[in-house]
Amino acid sequence: MLAPSFISVYDYPDIVYRLRALGFDKVVEVTFGAKMTNLNYYQILKENNDRTWISSPCPTLVNVIRGKYPHLLRNLVPVHSPMGSMGLICRKHFPGYVNVFVGPCLTKKMEAQELDTIDEALTFRDLDELFVKYNIPEEITDTKHIATFDKFYNDYTKIYPLSGGLSDTLQYQHILKKKDILVMEGMGNIIKILDGFKDGYYKNYKFLDILTCEGGCINGPGINYQYPVKERIKRVRKYKEYASRYEKDLGRTGKKADADGLDFSRRFE
Ligand code: SF4
Repeated sequence: MLAPSFISVYDYPDIVYRLRALGFDKVVEVTFGAKMTNLNYYQILKENNDRTWISSPCPTLVNVIRGKYPHLLRNLVPVHSPMGSMGLICRKHFPGYVNVFVGPCLTKKMEAQELDTIDEALTFRDLDELFVKYNIPEEITDTKHIATFDKFYNDYTKIYPLSGGLSDTLQYQHILKKKDILVMEGMGNIIKILDGFKDGYYKNYKFLDILTCEGGCINGPGINYQYPVKERIKRVRKYKEYASRYEKDLGRTGKKADADGLDFSRRFE
């Protein structure tokens, strides 16, 4: 289960070859999990106007709230992160498999321990070590390894790891105005916001789309910083353009029906 920030570090489709060469049988993007996370956010934001909601996919933010601001736990949107949502989807469609998440984040390892659906969480740095250990080259041309992702797949949530990526892909226009949403990143800024809450609200905002790493998950601590941040952002946007142009009709797009029967809600305590 590859976090959408993978493209800020690795080349596509080489990374899919390399993961298969490493021994992974199925290789999926987490983008469809992000879509299901968003659909559940939409419903909650639409139906509940009694507090300022705080985005909850960043486990570092969740841990800060648990430790220093427990009164704000009820403000965290009670929905699984894209990783948690994709874990549920993979458990349903690939029973018996071991689910391994690979991403830019150290605290996802802690989140994974709280979930039944993620068996292991690795950082991109961990993955690089495995590539070195098992002599997996950066480019693989051996055609016995398939270069495309398995189901399930979604193109517009590919910008999720950028600051504001959640709200930009929430399609909120029927329920919120742009001024109702605050996008913010970086631990110092986040602390100021959390300190500024009064009676369950932060100013007049209805939704805070916030991440603790400067620049969002493309600048997470589990990344080998091969490219500068600006270049990483460019790579994410370019890959989204590429995928929406050339990969739309490959029949791998996740549909809502693929998530039928799954409960994406999560309790924060
Ligand atoms: S912003 Fe940083 S700490 Fe938060 S989920 Fe992304 S990589 Fe992890």
